[in-house]
Amino acid sequence: MFRFFSFCLLFISNTLFAQEHSHIIGRKIIYPDIPGYKTLKTDLHQHTVFSDGSVWPDIRVMEALMDGLDVISLTEHLEYQPHKTDIPHPDRNRSYALALEEAKKHDLIIVRGSEITRKMPPGHNNAVFIKDANGLLITDSVEVFRAARAQGAFIFWNHPNWTAQRKDGIARLTDMHKMLIKENLLHGIEVVNDDTYSEEALQIALDNNLTIMGTSDIHKLIDWDFKINEGGHRPVTLVFAKERTEESIKEALFEHRTVVYYKDLLIGREPYLVPLLQASISVKSASYTGKTDVLKIVLVNGTNSPILLSNKSGFTMHSNYDVLTLQPGENTIEVKTLERLKELNLNFEVLSAVYAPGKHPVVGWKVL
Ligand code: ZN
Repeated sequence: MFRFFSFCLLFISNTLFAQEHSHIIGRKIIYPDIPGYKTLKTDLHQHTVFSDGSVWPDIRVMEALMDGLDVISLTEHLEYQPHKTDIPHPDRNRSYALALEEAKKHDLIIVRGSEITRKMPPGHNNAVFIKDANGLLITDSVEVFRAARAQGAFIFWNHPNWTAQRKDGIARLTDMHKMLIKENLLHGIEVVNDDTYSEEALQIALDNNLTIMGTSDIHKLIDWDFKINEGGHRPVTLVFAKERTEESIKEALFEHRTVVYYKDLLIGREPYLVPLLQASISVKSASYTGKTDVLKIVLVNGTNSPILLSNKSGFTMHSNYDVLTLQPGENTIEVKTLERLKELNLNFEVLSAVYAPGKHPVVGWKVL
């Protein structure tokens, strides 16, 4: 009896101990929908053993499900095939087919894609929503873009800041890229690739009407490269789609409806960035403390990432200062409003969001 009792105690204390020492809230990436659109989490640049990656396609599907993604593409290099001797695959659609087979058992959209892998220019470019990867085995660097476009592809320039092709890390458009854009053969640009962020690429996207993209370009394991056990995450492109369908995602990409989530930073055009931020933070309560004119506000950060704010309300803070971090979940702030207000719109500059290099949106929340 005593033994059983101590066993129970041990079990209970172990359970409590395990809960107290669990720092991982969950690895799933969480962002709310915005008015009129579903917010879909996508990673459209990944590799497996079918080009120069280290894993079988089903592992990419499982990783995506663990991260809470909606859409992935396995974009094997068409031209670079280091595992071909060990894994011969004359059909270049095999990676897609295997991922699709695995995803059938789950709720994940697989988009067929390929990486067109060339010297600069045009460098590396991903063609996604293609119909047949075998049809893209074309030597001419411009003809391959035309063939991808003829298949209906959305094409984006990968890592334009890649130091192997740009030793100063600065993304610059070449004449060939300008021509590709003009001929509607290039539609997006990676502003984020793996662990790099290019402000120059963001400016290129804005100047040339290209879609802002961010991808993991994973070759090994997401868990290792992005330190998931330390609270890290892969970069993703949030796509604002009318429906959760392949067709709708493609339409959204062509219409530039994206925000990139990279480390704690959100990068995107203002018309999507501002509603996303507005939906990400909600006001749970606001009330004056005792007989004071100090307003206590509980804000809820509904995402899984901290949001960094700078106070632009015109009032000073009581228990915080002008720059504050909203952690995921509930956060209490206190504002000295000088008198008891009936209405209050609280404005913050969101320092962890950019709509252009060095430019942060100012977003307002109605608290009273
Ligand atoms: Zn790649």
